[in-house]
Parts: sequence; structure tokens; C-alpha cells
Amino acid sequence: MRKFKTESKKLLDLMINSIYTNREIFLRELISNASDAVDKLYFRSLTDPSVAVGRDDLAITVDYNSDERTVTVSDNGIGMTKDELDKNLGTIAHSDSFEFKAAQAEAAAESEPGEAKGLDDLTDVDIIGQFGVGFYSAFMVGKKVRVVSRAIGSDEAWAWESDGIDGYDIKPAERAEHGTDVIVYLKDDTADESFGTFASEHGLTQLIKRYSNYVRYPIKMEVTKS
Ligand code: ADP
Ligand code: MG
Repeated sequence: MRKFKTESKKLLDLMINSIYTNREIFLRELISNASDAVDKLYFRSLTDPSVAVGRDDLAITVDYNSDERTVTVSDNGIGMTKDELDKNLGTIAHSDSFEFKAAQAEAAAESEPGEAKGLDDLTDVDIIGQFGVGFYSAFMVGKKVRVVSRAIGSDEAWAWESDGIDGYDIKPAERAEHGTDVIVYLKDDTADESFGTFASEHGLTQLIKRYSNYVRYPIKMEVTKS
């Protein structure tokens, strides 16, 4: 088990015991990472003749498995090596900024009780998007997150896995093609109606519609039932 860096751990605690009410934004964050990964591969293909990808081959898939209660966001983008999984998902940069912003947002919400919804989408974008803690938002809804990735040009795949508490493991895995699968094992309380309806085929489809405006690649929705 590799331990999270102290700063990352603080942020994870903040994420898990979240000050955010709309936890479903994790999906926007994972889709935006998938879109970035596909962009990176596309731009690489413009200058690197060994990377032969057509724009039409690039896509993002969201799979909902109602039996396993998992949401999986997959892309066939640039992928991550073992070292990149460790570096990119094991540490969060800018934690000072994050905590600063989070404290500000909390203070603002407290001082204006009538505006309890002051933590609106925009604030979430500010805090979570801007400071690169997007991926960790998966732990707001997931009790476990598994990331299977294969970097372009590599024939090895690796799996990063964590319960978001102390640390993570990185182990050899299988993946047929370059790209990344982020598998979120939903917490039990996400089935609760009061939590919102995203943990369903309908809920996810609605969310994807909302976020796909910002993404220039097709997002396919799949539903797995046994
Ligand atoms: P940000 O997107 O702001 O950089 P995130 O916390 O969302 O921060 O993601 C951290 C990093 O993890 C990204 O910068 C990227 O390097 C890597 N990453 C996350 N998801 C993917 C993915 N689907 N494919 C490739 N790399 C990814
Ligand atoms: Mg991101």
C-alpha cells in the first residue's frame, strides 16, 4: 500500500465528508478528465506519425452496472503509465488554494443562511475544477475507486485502487487498448432518494446530457444488467 501524501489526505477528508451538496458533479469531473485524455491523444497524433488515431475513433463511455452498483467512465485517450498513475492520482497539487477556497465558500455559506445554496454549481467549478482535485470527487460517491489504464505506445496496463482513506495500490492489469477506465463502486447511501437520482440509468442519462454540452467527443451510455 502506498500512502497518500499528507496534503492529499486532508483534501480527501474534505471530499469524503463533503461540504458539497451536489455530489453528482463527480461525473462531470470524470468526463472532463476523459475528454482531456482524448484531447491529449488527438494532439499527439497530429505531430507523432506512430500514433494513428482518427478523430472519429475517439469516444467516452459511461457504463452503469446496477447489480454491482458501479459507474464506469472509460476513454480511449492517452492513458497513464504506472508512474503516471502514481504521480497523477497519488498527489494533489495546490492544496493550499483548495483549502483557502473551501474555507471561503464555507464562511460565505454560514454568513448568509438565507442563501444556503450559495455553494452553487459555479462555486463547485471554482473549487473542484480549478484546483485539480477533480478526480478525488469520485470519493464523494464511491467507497472504492479502481482506475485501469494503458498508456499509448505501451503494452502494459496497470490498475490503481483505493478506498480513499489511507492510500492506494498499483497492480498489473489487463486492458485491450490504450485508454483509461475509472470504476466507481458506489457507496450504499447513494441509493437513497434524498441523495438524488443519479444512481440509476435515468439519472445518469440526464447528467450526461447536461455535461455533454462541454465535451466535443461523443459520450455513449451503456447499462449492464445480469
Ligand atoms: P486536473 O484534471 O485538474 O488536472 P484531476 O484531479 O481531475 O485534475 O486529475 C488529475 C490528473 O490525473 C490529470 O491531470 C491527469 O494527468 C490524470 N488523469 C485523470 N483522469 C485521467 C484519464 N481518464 N486519462 C488520463 N489521465 C487522467
Ligand atoms: Mg480534472
